[in-house]
Amino acid sequence: MVNPHVAIIGAGPIGLELAVALKRARVDYTHLEAGQIAQTVDRYPKMTRFFSSPERIAIAGVPLQTPDQAKATREQYLDYLRGIVTQFDLDVHTYERVTKIDQEDSQFTLHTDRQGVVTRYSATHVVLAVGDMAFPRLLHVPGEDLSHVSHYFDEPHRYFRKRLFIVGGKNSAVEAALRCHHAGATVSMSYRGDRFDPERIKYWLLPELESLIKVGQIAFYPNTIPAAMTPTHVDLSPAPGLIGDSIQVEADFVLLLTGYVMDATLFKMLGVELVGGNQAPAHDPQTMQTNVPNVFVAGTAAAGTQETFKLFIENCHAHVPRIVATITGHPCDTPDIIDTHDGQAPES
Ligand SMILES: Cc1cc2nc3c(=O)[nH]c(=O)nc-3n(C[C@H](O)[C@H](O)[C@H](O)COP(=O)(O)OP(=O)(O)OC[C@H]3O[C@@H](n4cnc5c(N)ncnc54)[C@H](O)[C@@H]3O)c2cc1C
Repeated sequence: MVNPHVAIIGAGPIGLELAVALKRARVDYTHLEAGQIAQTVDRYPKMTRFFSSPERIAIAGVPLQTPDQAKATREQYLDYLRGIVTQFDLDVHTYERVTKIDQEDSQFTLHTDRQGVVTRYSATHVVLAVGDMAFPRLLHVPGEDLSHVSHYFDEPHRYFRKRLFIVGGKNSAVEAALRCHHAGATVSMSYRGDRFDPERIKYWLLPELESLIKVGQIAFYPNTIPAAMTPTHVDLSPAPGLIGDSIQVEADFVLLLTGYVMDATLFKMLGVELVGGNQAPAHDPQTMQTNVPNVFVAGTAAAGTQETFKLFIENCHAHVPRIVATITGHPCDTPDIIDTHDGQAPES
C-alpha cells in the first residue's frame, strides 16, 4: 500500500488538532489555510469571551490557562493557538485558499490560489476542516450593501454617541447590543421572534439586556424583520405570518447579526452528498469519512450550515482520532479529549 499523504484544508482549532495528531502518528500531510490560522476566531469581535470553559476548547492535550482562571477571550485563544503551532512546529500554508480539487484514481490534486499564484499539491486523502461560517447569512433586502451596514461586529468604539440598529436575536446580537450600549451608543434591536430564547443566549447576558429594554435604555422591536435600509433609516415590517404597520427607525449604523453559512463548494466538487436542511456532508460518524472514499470531514463543517448550533469546538475533538485511526489503520489515542457539552449553544 502507498504511504498516505493527507491534505488538511482549514487551520481552525480542529484542523490544527488534526495536524498535531498526524504529526504524532508520523503521517505525511500538507496543511492549507485560506487566511491566517484560526481565521474564524480572528473574526470574533475583539475581547469576546468564549462560552466554553478553557479545558473544553484546549486542543492536542495542551492545557489552556487564563490569567484569571476565567473563560478565555478571543485574544487569549489566538495566543494559545499560535503557541500550539510553534510548539509542534506545524507547517501551515497560510493565505492559500484551495480553489479546486481533481481526483484521478486514488490520487487527489489540490489547486490553491495565493494572490493569483496557483500551486498544486498531491494527496492520497483529503480532510475538509473548513468550518461552517464562511459567509454571512444575507437578508437580501435593499440597502444591505450600504457602507454603514455591516454583517460583522468588530468592536464598540466606532458606535460611540451614534444610533446603532442591530438585527438578530442570538448571542452575537445580544452581546453586541450590550457592549455598544455600555460604550455609549444609542442601541435599537429588531428580532423576528417575540422574545429572546434563554436556552440559546449566554446566561449572564440575557437578564441585563431584558432589564435595559424594560427601562427603555435599549429600544426593542420584537416580531419584526428589516424590509430595507436607507442611509438614514431602517424600515421594519411585521415578521412573516404577522400583521401590523411598518415602522421606520433612524440609524447611523446597522449591524445585521443573523448568522453564517457554510461554503460547500469543495464538497460539491468532490462529489460529497449534502443532506438535510443544513446541507451537511454525508459521512460515517465513526470514521468521519464521507460518501467519497478517502475524503473526510472534520470540525463544525460536519454539521453543514447550522441553524441551531449542535457542533462546536468542544464536541468536535473526537473527530481527530477517528480520522487518524481510519487513515493509519491503527487506533489513535488523543490526550484528554472531552466529547461532551452542556447543551447550550456557545454562539450563534
Ligand atoms: C463570537 C463567537 C463565539 C464562539 N464561542 C464558542 C465557544 O465558546 N465554544 C465553542 O466551542 N465554539 C464557539 N464558537 C464557534 C467556533 O468558533 C467554531 O465552532 C470553531 O471555529 C470551529 O472550528 P473548526 O476548526 O471546525 O472550523 P473553523 O474555526 O471555522 O476553521 C475553518 C478554517 O478553514 C479555512 N478554510 C475554509 N475554506 C477554505 C479553503 N477553501 N481553503 C483553505 N482554507 C479554508 C477557514 O479560513 C478557517 O480558518 C464561537 C463562534 C463565534 C462566532
